[in-house]
Amino acid sequence: MDTERTSPRPLLREALEACGHRYTPQRAAVYRYLANVTTHPTADEIFTAARADIPDLSLATVYKALEAFVEAGLARKLALGDGPARYDGRTDEHDHARCLKCGRVMDVHGPHDPGLVQGLVPGDGFEVLDYHLELVGYCPSCRS
Ligand code: ZN
Ligand code: MN
Repeated sequence: MDTERTSPRPLLREALEACGHRYTPQRAAVYRYLANVTTHPTADEIFTAARADIPDLSLATVYKALEAFVEAGLARKLALGDGPARYDGRTDEHDHARCLKCGRVMDVHGPHDPGLVQGLVPGDGFEVLDYHLELVGYCPSCRS
């Protein structure tokens, strides 16, 4: 099987190797899944989905792949609420909204503007550079 040809992105190998990480067909499958969903899946969810492509995939391999992607700037790790970490294949700066009932995490559409928090004063001498915003509420399914 030509794994290069089925790679989700020709630059995946290059980006991983630039950070000293190995490119493997397993990692390509994990990345292919993550890059094509907007659900901000947990490592468990990615493992369950990507195992359909690669039957000998292990959860530990998924965790290592995800850490490599984050280090290589190919994915973001999100710590939202008190659940397990979620992963985002979208790496540009953007904020998230989390449903308090089902846990669904959605992208917030709109500008990420550091000026938005200018009036907030965290304490004497603290210089604010940026913020991480998490909107909480109920998703369309849980509202009805
Ligand atoms: Zn919901
Ligand atoms: Mn996102």
